[in-house]
Amino acid sequence: MKIEAAVLRAGSAELSRERIELEEPRANEILVRLVATGVCHTDIKMAETPDRVPRPIVLGHEGAGIVERIGASVTKVVPGDHVVMSYDYCGTCPSCLDNAPVYCHDMGPYNFGGRRPDGTSPISKGDETIGGSFFGQSSFADFALCTERNAVKVRKDAPLELLGPLGCGIQTGAGAVLNALRLTPGKTIAVFGAGSVGLSAVMAARLAGASRIIVVDLVTERLAMASELGATHIVNAKDSDARDEIMGITGYGVDFSFDTTGVAAVQQQALAALAPRGTCGFVATPPGPLPVNMMHLMAFGRKLVGIIEGEAVSDTFIPMLIDFHMQGRFPFDKLVKFYDFDRINEAIHDSNAGRTIKPIVRFS
Ligand SMILES: [Zn+2]
Ligand SMILES: [Zn+2]
Repeated sequence: MKIEAAVLRAGSAELSRERIELEEPRANEILVRLVATGVCHTDIKMAETPDRVPRPIVLGHEGAGIVERIGASVTKVVPGDHVVMSYDYCGTCPSCLDNAPVYCHDMGPYNFGGRRPDGTSPISKGDETIGGSFFGQSSFADFALCTERNAVKVRKDAPLELLGPLGCGIQTGAGAVLNALRLTPGKTIAVFGAGSVGLSAVMAARLAGASRIIVVDLVTERLAMASELGATHIVNAKDSDARDEIMGITGYGVDFSFDTTGVAAVQQQALAALAPRGTCGFVATPPGPLPVNMMHLMAFGRKLVGIIEGEAVSDTFIPMLIDFHMQGRFPFDKLVKFYDFDRINEAIHDSNAGRTIKPIVRFS
């Protein structure tokens, strides 16, 4: 079938809108008509960095839409169901079998290969093969193919056009707090970076009953948003030393720190702000190695942990976040700005410039 897609081609970081072809769903595949797709920093990184993914390719991995057709063996959804598409995984490796699909041993090929696991791409333009199956979806298009693994069925009374970012960015921040760090009532947390991931962590920390939620950023408006979403303290790192501020607020440091910036100097502060037995989680990395004071970690049982996709099992985690949202307890709509699909490059630029916290492109 013909679809309208935003294609990333060699030699450019801009996406070009093109009319291309998408295969019919195979036996295990689901054809989804997209209502909207979030734009994630990972999409932007792929576009800005040559050779990270094979080009040409259709990116997009926070798709939300309506099931149009299903393959012969699909039982999880039927046409008309609402779905959010999340990351893909193999389902058979030791991590997947241990209910940790986010650490699938084949995470790379299943999400960044630009091909199905069997090496084919479902997308083409005439004789030209175009990379598809990005995060098992390639949802910068009005139609996409996914499988039962990464299609999450969601309630029909929720605003579908809003839900796509739950498939990656929002799940990453909320899941880090709820699944990976497992913050319990009364604990303290410092969140570094008030973007969509950091602010999702703030909302999750409030849900989980954190006694102090300290947010560190450089942008006044972002810090104001953090306060609105549940931060008990905000620190503008332009004006003061974040570690000193955190020590002043808590006395001995935080139980959890969470770095979303990937900036080495900020990660050092996130580590230094930990109380004894505290844990620092991070979801982005600096370009080079990070010198770590191992004694600071060892002597007081502190931990440093990398976290992917909020360690979420999307089939249960995303519906839970939607329930919280519908109850008014997880207002992630405050982070969002909508763009028509035609303006996808503008959405990317606005995100990069910090003008938009979470862009979502809408299909008409
Ligand atoms: Zn696996
Ligand atoms: Zn993402």
